[in-house]
Formats: sequence, structure tokens, C-alpha cells
Amino acid sequence: MIELSEEQRMILTTVKSIAQEKIKPRASEIDEKGEFPWDTVKIFAENGILTPLLPQKYGGIGLEYLIFSMILEEISKVCASSALILIAQADGMLPILLGGSEELKNRYLPRLSKGALSGIAATEPAAGSDILSMRTRAVRKGNVYVINGQKCFITNGSVADVLSVYAYTDPDKRSKGITAFVVEKGSKGLVYGKNENKMGMRGSINSELFFEDLVVPEENRISEEGKGMENLMAALCTSRLFAASQAVGLAQGAINEAVNYSKQRIQFGQPISKLQAIQFMIADMVANTEAARLLTYQAARHIDRQNWPLVPRFCTMAKFVASDTAMKVTTDAVQVMGGYGYMKDYPVERMMRDAKLIQIYTGTNQIMRLVTAREIFRE
Ligand SMILES: Cc1cc2nc3c(=O)[nH]c(=O)nc-3n(C[C@H](O)[C@H](O)[C@H](O)COP(=O)(O)OP(=O)(O)OC[C@H]3O[C@@H](n4cnc5c(N)ncnc54)[C@H](O)[C@@H]3O)c2cc1C
Repeated sequence: MIELSEEQRMILTTVKSIAQEKIKPRASEIDEKGEFPWDTVKIFAENGILTPLLPQKYGGIGLEYLIFSMILEEISKVCASSALILIAQADGMLPILLGGSEELKNRYLPRLSKGALSGIAATEPAAGSDILSMRTRAVRKGNVYVINGQKCFITNGSVADVLSVYAYTDPDKRSKGITAFVVEKGSKGLVYGKNENKMGMRGSINSELFFEDLVVPEENRISEEGKGMENLMAALCTSRLFAASQAVGLAQGAINEAVNYSKQRIQFGQPISKLQAIQFMIADMVANTEAARLLTYQAARHIDRQNWPLVPRFCTMAKFVASDTAMKVTTDAVQVMGGYGYMKDYPVERMMRDAKLIQIYTGTNQIMRLVTAREIFRE
């Protein structure tokens, strides 16, 4: 049982009502239209939850990871795309918070809780799981860097005001030759390609970015030259916790829909919830989601308690367990609801499409297993 303080309970109660009253009614529409929900961003900012992990001295509320995890869960129960906006915001903010100079933090971070959006740009067409294959180069010229290259699939890409971008400053040094930079929207040489047309998470934007002689001042470098990979791995580690939280929420949302439906759907003269075949399916869905939730909370607790040796392993385990669970649970929710589950009149088909992404992004579940095994056998 997780003990929460009065203040933490109040935050979650507020988030629950925002999710139910404001986010849920928009979920189907933004999915259908593939529309970025600016109104939702405004609601998050007005209620102080757009960047809740941000420490108070930079304008945030310095929330614990566990509570942020629970916030993501609540939002994902009704709209995983909207939760992805919060995840991308945290993903873009953390590289600056973890590695930026005090001047850089003060320049960019306070904007993020007020409504400015951020994102993290690492993936390239030829560099997905194999991130060291990235081709983007940053060449130092006096007190600026000139960046050339391209990124793809970037969440919040074309709407982000502030992007954490990774590029090689010294390709020969491989993982020690990557450097991170803050790139601002409107910079000359930052060119937007297409926004992707996706299977799910259609209320979130994923963009191609091109850097054409993009000039970035030296002050916008995050940490020292060559520290980019370390910075990226730290940011991705927490991102995996966020993805796990999103998956748990999504699975719970699908369970809620399937249970309600099964009590109302009459076949052979009784609600289908009386059928053992349906009951067993729902029992598995609930048990597996509870297990994934506990693993996710455990990962969050390890971060909050700064139990660093266990953090990578727990975040990666939570990510693959929770997202595989969400995929199975949402698929079974469609099954419980039969033909109606397959129709867009009910949210479970959207949830099933949304769940698929979580097995892929922020490191595929195959890579998550590789990382977990590496951590286990390191001992
Ligand atoms: C909607 C969406 C949002 C995203 N948001 C962002 C973002 O904001 N910022 C960002 O930088 N990136 C983002 N990404 C990129 C995402 O992190 C990558 O798609 C992911 O890491 C996988 O890379 P890939 O797509 O190139 O697949 P690949 O690396 O080409 O993998 C293809 C298949 O091969 C398997 N595979 C690859 N290597 C191995 C291996 N060594 N062992 C076993 N199996 C392997 C993979 O598991 C997968 O099944 C996003 C992607 C999507 C789809």
C-alpha cells in the first residue's frame, strides 16, 4: 500500500477531475482528427501540471517521480496522447535540468511550466536503437556551433519552443563524441519536415526536423562536449518510467471500459459478465495490470529515493512489462466487447492502437530486455 500525503492526494484528486471532465470528452475527437490539443496544453499549464517535476526554483512544483507517474496514469486512463504531451515535456526538460549550466536552466526552464513546450531529439532515419549511428554533426566555429543533420519521429517536434538536440562533435570518439544542445523554435536553419500520420497516439505530434547550418551559441551547449550520450541515457531512463506509467493508465482505462460493458451486454439472457470465459479474461487483465503498476511504482520510488544502482534496471523492466501488459489488456478489452469493441464508437480500439507505441518508443521492448539483462549480469 502506498502512503500519500494530504497534498499529494489533493493533487491527484484535481488531476482525476481534469482527466474525467476536460480530457476524456476530447479524446476521441483528437484521435479522429489527428489534432494537437492546444486546449489541453493550456489546461495542464493553468493547473500547474505541465512540468510538475521541475524544481520550485525554476518555476515548477518539484513533484516526486511517483506522483508524476500517478498523474500520467490518470491522464492515460482516458487519453494516452494527452499524457504523451506531458511525457515529451519532461523528456525535453530533463536534459537541461540534469546537465545544463545554471544560466541555461534559468533561461529556459521557467518558461516550460507556463506553457512553452519542449521535446528531445535524438532519433534519426538511420539511427534508432543504434543511436551511435547518428549523422547529425555540430562543428565548433569560435563561440558558436554549426549543426547539420536531421532527426525523425520527434514528439512535440514542430510545436516545441525548446528542443534538446543531440549531435556528434567528435564522431571518432563514438559514445564520448556526442554533445547535447538547446535549440530554440524560430532559429534560422531549424527546418520542419512532415508531421507523421500515425496508427495511434494521434493527438500527439511527431515531426521530422532538419538542421541546415543551424547556428547555436556556445552557451546553449548542455554540459561539456562529449557528455551528450551520458545525458541522453539519463533522460531516457526516466522516460521509460513515464512510458510505463502511461501503459498502466492505458491498461486500466481499457479494463474500466470492458468491465462496464460486460455488465450491460446481454447475450443468452444474461450479462456477459456472468460468463466464466469473460470473467477469466478480466481477472487476468486486472491481475497483470496491478503487477505492472506495482513494478512501475517501485521504479519511481527508486528514483525518488536516489537508489541509483537500481534505477536503470527497474525503469526498463517497468517499461517492457507495463507496455506488453497494456498491449495484451487493450487487445483483450476489444475481445470482451466483441464487434462493438472493434468500432470507433467505443474507446477500446483507440486504446489498443495507442498501446502499440509504448512497446516501441523510448527504446523498443527488445532493447529494454537487452538493457535489463546487461544490468543483471553486470553484478
Ligand atoms: C510515435 C513515436 C514517438 C517517438 N518520439 C521520439 C522522441 O521524442 N525523440 C526521439 O529521439 N525519438 C523518438 N522516437 C523514436 C523511438 O525512440 C525509436 O523509434 C525507437 O527507439 C526504435 O528505433 P527504430 O524505430 O529506428 O527501430 P529499429 O532500431 O530499426 O528497430 C527495428 C526492430 O529491430 C529490433 N532491434 C534493433 N536492434 C536490436 C538489437 N540490438 N537486439 C534486438 N532487437 C533489435 C527492434 O527492437 C525493432 O523490433 C519516437 C518514435 C515513435 C514511433
